[in-house]
Amino acid sequence: MLGQMMQWPLLVSSILRHAASYHGDTEIVSRTVEGPIHRYTYADLSRRAKQLANALGRLGLEPGDRVGTLAWNGYRHLELYYGVSGSGLVCHTINPRLFPEQIAFIIAHAGDRVLFSDLSFLPILEQMADALKGLKAVVIMTDEAHMPSSPLLPDLVCYETLIAEEADEYEWPDLDENTASGLCYTSGTTGEPKGVLYSHRSSVLHAMSCALPDVLGLSALDSVSPVVPMFHVNAWGIPFIAPMVGAKLVMPGPKLDGASIHELFEQEGVTFTAGVPTVWLTLLDWMDSHGQSFTSLKRVAIGGSAVPPVMISRLQDKGVTVRHVWGMTETSPLGLAAALKAKHEGLAPEQKLALRAKQGRPLFGMEFRTRGTDGKPIARDGKSFGSMLVRGPWVAAGYYNSPASPAHAEEGWFDTGDVVTMDADGFVQIVDRTKDAVKSGGEWISSIELENIAQSHPAIKEAAVVAKPDERWGERPVLVVQLKPEAHFSRQEMIDLYTGKVARWSIPDDVLVVDELPHTATGKLLKTAIREIVVNRLQVGSLDEDLPPVSR
Ligand code: ADP
Repeated sequence: MLGQMMQWPLLVSSILRHAASYHGDTEIVSRTVEGPIHRYTYADLSRRAKQLANALGRLGLEPGDRVGTLAWNGYRHLELYYGVSGSGLVCHTINPRLFPEQIAFIIAHAGDRVLFSDLSFLPILEQMADALKGLKAVVIMTDEAHMPSSPLLPDLVCYETLIAEEADEYEWPDLDENTASGLCYTSGTTGEPKGVLYSHRSSVLHAMSCALPDVLGLSALDSVSPVVPMFHVNAWGIPFIAPMVGAKLVMPGPKLDGASIHELFEQEGVTFTAGVPTVWLTLLDWMDSHGQSFTSLKRVAIGGSAVPPVMISRLQDKGVTVRHVWGMTETSPLGLAAALKAKHEGLAPEQKLALRAKQGRPLFGMEFRTRGTDGKPIARDGKSFGSMLVRGPWVAAGYYNSPASPAHAEEGWFDTGDVVTMDADGFVQIVDRTKDAVKSGGEWISSIELENIAQSHPAIKEAAVVAKPDERWGERPVLVVQLKPEAHFSRQEMIDLYTGKVARWSIPDDVLVVDELPHTATGKLLKTAIREIVVNRLQVGSLDEDLPPVSR
């Protein structure tokens, strides 16, 4: 027997309708590319998203057409999220930190019909002018006063002019909730970028689950600043969650340096923020060197790569609680969040820190399985490790326009490529990505564990551990570090740092100091490039010729 409840599709447009009706006067504040701070409300967002939807119709776009965006976090990008997806088109966010050739590849692969771009990315557009010829329009997200003129791109359209004459009346269509709403390509650290095609249903369910107290825990009392970019995995769903709960939104735009972020947080009373670890390193270092504190910030969600425990402590010292989260492009992205349980309240501070530093426990809606090398589930003892498989309504079942399918170790389960431990409470700790773990003499050494320890050393700004080829052991770990200004770090200091903390055979063989560690377009350590630096250095001699190898 079926239930007798209404069929009400879960649509992205319903989030905006809710925000405009019941949180209409709640503010959205954006630092603009043009410079000044822009302020308006959810009611204004709703009106302009409708004008945009009308303009998209006038451009001749058909349901399901892809609309590309190359943009920072800001109000016009938000209008695209709703105007494009809400009207039955697909909002294809593109990462501007990729190389122009990669961007051109992604635009062609996605078959984008129109591209919207912030002013900042004009040089990228010019470099790929030929690849843009087939588009119906390239729209610059600015007003007439700031419109650039480009001989290479003579037909650029001005965003404000495009929507100016449109009516702000528009009936959001009653779509099937499984209609595609968004498209995001994986960052390609694991091969060719692949398109993950989100649906209205997956986006709404993901947002509802992420809003819960033990995940991001957002409410109408919050002032929320997503530092995590809207151009990659929907800024962890925050552009949907904030209007869903009626939180104020504070968009940092293009300025992600410590001083600008701190200033915006203080001015706008930001209580919650989210982003990858590198951003917080920059902010914390800037605050420490300028003797600054936070007056409103209470919580920060950190993920995308492992959060070093020392970062949790540094933020805690400034009155900010860290919520470590885990996710992937293929999982919309969030799947795990490290919120403590009531029974953990009495734990000693170091034990609480150790739990908070884990990637977290499963969100409702995501199911996890682990598999050891023998294919059997691993013991949930927080020690045994194996690969992590997931399934759920916001996990990719396929890739856009591609015969490749997400790695399915077992029918209906997506293989994340992460090697993990899980404890009896469901807390998952990522030991490593399968391809980043150092395989030494048949044992796996966790690069994350070694990086976290290095990160706690006062001389080290950022640390990476990669494998170097080794005749005897297959691979051996090497520590590669960027030091703080004026700091020194020797190989002996490295050995002292690790001794007693990890098994002797896990201690890196060498340390290499570099001026800067390379990062991916999403701000993670670019392990392939770091491995290359190590291998190139080895070709001109040993990394450190003066010292004998570490005994094992
Ligand atoms: P790509 O897979 O293209 O690098 P994603 O943004 O999808 O880009 O990254 C997903 C991967 O990032 C995960 O498989 C995981 O290895 C890593 N990751 C995400 N969050 C965390 C975290 N909190 N701790 C450690 N690794 C993480």
